[in-house]
Amino acid sequence: VLGLTAVVLSGLVFALGVFDGRPVTQMAVTAVSLVVAAVPESLPAVVTLALALGARRMAGSRAIPRRLHAVETLGSVTVIASDKTGTLTEGRMAVQHAVVPGRDRYAVTGTGYAPDGEVRHRGEPVSAPDELRALARAGLLCNDAMLTPPTGERPEWTAIGDPLEAALVTFAARCGLDPETTREAWPRVAEAPFDQDLRRMTTVHRRCDGRYLVVCKGAPENLLAPPLMDAGAEELAELTDAAHRLAAEGLRVLAVASAVVDTLPDPARPTGLRPLGLVAVGDPLRTAAPGIAAGFEQAGIRLVLITGDHPATAAAIGGRLGLWRDGDPLANGDDGDPGGAHPDTRVYARTQPEQKLDIIAGLQDRGHVVAMTGDGVNDAPALRRADIGVAMGGGTEVARQAADLVLVDDDLTTVATAIGEGRRIYDNIRRFLRYALAGGVAEIAVMLLGPLVGLPVPLLPAQILWINLLTHGVPGVALGAEPAEPGTLRRRPRSPQESVLGGGLGRDVLVTGALIAAATLGAGVWAAAADRPWQSVVFVVLGLAQLGVALAVRATRAPGSREHNRALPVAVAISAVLQVAGVLLPPLRELLGTSPLSALDLLACAAIGVLPGLVLRLTRRSGTADGTDGPRAGTQDPARPAAGRAG
Ligand code: ADP
Ligand code: MG
Repeated sequence: VLGLTAVVLSGLVFALGVFDGRPVTQMAVTAVSLVVAAVPESLPAVVTLALALGARRMAGSRAIPRRLHAVETLGSVTVIASDKTGTLTEGRMAVQHAVVPGRDRYAVTGTGYAPDGEVRHRGEPVSAPDELRALARAGLLCNDAMLTPPTGERPEWTAIGDPLEAALVTFAARCGLDPETTREAWPRVAEAPFDQDLRRMTTVHRRCDGRYLVVCKGAPENLLAPPLMDAGAEELAELTDAAHRLAAEGLRVLAVASAVVDTLPDPARPTGLRPLGLVAVGDPLRTAAPGIAAGFEQAGIRLVLITGDHPATAAAIGGRLGLWRDGDPLANGDDGDPGGAHPDTRVYARTQPEQKLDIIAGLQDRGHVVAMTGDGVNDAPALRRADIGVAMGGGTEVARQAADLVLVDDDLTTVATAIGEGRRIYDNIRRFLRYALAGGVAEIAVMLLGPLVGLPVPLLPAQILWINLLTHGVPGVALGAEPAEPGTLRRRPRSPQESVLGGGLGRDVLVTGALIAAATLGAGVWAAAADRPWQSVVFVVLGLAQLGVALAVRATRAPGSREHNRALPVAVAISAVLQVAGVLLPPLRELLGTSPLSALDLLACAAIGVLPGLVLRLTRRSGTADGTDGPRAGTQDPARPAAGRAG
């Protein structure tokens, strides 16, 4: 569109010139120069450089963009779909409560994964009774995790393997079992690893009497059901009830069951299991997590929680994050409609990895730009489908390969930083467009209107190209390095449908171009009347006025911020010197066809040249990124979060 407009308008300049009796070749060269000048041909360079520098800054804050376009897309993200475990929580799990059939619950205390800790019953420390030890032993056997003791550098016990299973190892130790000798005494002979569809894991162990012990652990509603379980309905209902109460406290609940059989069974199809009890595992929220949720809210970005946990657990955690209140919609993957739920759903529970794809598709259908976090192999399709796939640095290689952004430290705060960076870059691209396109508009306007105000052929082709070279080149690229405006992360995301020239930028380009053209033509008319070399005056003023605009569209600095884009004033100064040199140095004068200007003339040119920039700076609306209106409330954004939904 820009190219076509430039060609048509330049064609007009050509026709008017020829009509006026000028040589056809001269007018043709002029028209071609004008097209070159009016099209911001350095835009690809500016965009690429801004993105590349932005990518480097992001990597510095531990978010590594794997695709350049991700940097820009980040700025328009409207929904972040986040995992719970390890992203919003610390991923350090501990068994906090245990329930055995027919008994009250036991509380378990201790710090981290350290084996020392206490079992309490009704507030009193007790030594673990036999049923509790049987539960703990089963949890230890149906388990692939290990603990490593503290070392010189690490003062804490650490988990190797699934943190949930590591918590069970610690729990067994706190119940008085020795993990190593217990595992040696019941060697594993068969297993069915954790299955995300069945939500259970089964192992088979040889007992010293030659029979086999089958242990199964998994989500209570999957495990505590008749075909699997050989137990009375009352007993199962009682345990299910207890599981619900624990889940409502934000704990992840596992049921554990076992059976003793004579012949080696198929671990994929255990039968005749008897429930041993429940363990409830806590995973502390990251201290920063509620603040992150509130921060996203301010930036107009909705945080949604996607977890495989029970709805009650998910709701409790969602409540602590400020995402969910009683009565809010909550999607349950087991109900089979993961993506089509209520449009304001912020908590998705019992989600299978495949369902993440439907959730994202549902959000995208509603006009959202979705960023999704993931770390597992089966998260990869959803990471690809999301507009921005965010992989955790600690996750699988498959997830990282499928992602657009990798968070080195698994910290969601980094996503906020990255979004700020994306918005900054987009602002700067718009800044450049305003500057460069306004220059083009001014050049065409001067060439078109000049003859009408008594300035026939205001500029020669070489002069047009010289101005173009000086203005679009270094100062244009330097604009891409402008720092973020204060409040960048308090704005709503731009609408994905909005054009890069939207939000009033097109009008601003025209106004800015008109200001430059007016100053230039005004100077030309004055010079012609005062019998000065008016063409050279037009040449100098047009160049200087554009450079003044480059300074006027700079980002406003946050009070007290020391971030400063020194490249821009330096680039503008160099270009201004070269611009003036075009009328001062004889070899350049010969090349450009300019005439010498006196010091007084130059001073007048400078005084007129700064006017457009000065006007823009003084009339600039506050609170927007590029001096344009930016996204206006209520006009376009389909993804606008519900009003009044404070974080
Ligand atoms: P998330 O995406 O929140 O990590 P998962 O799909 O890993 O959820 O887990 C879903 C449910 O499966 C958990 O709430 C828990 O009940 C059960 N579960 C998780 N890990 C294991 C495991 N290693 N062994 C048995 N059951 C598990
Ligand atoms: Mg998991």
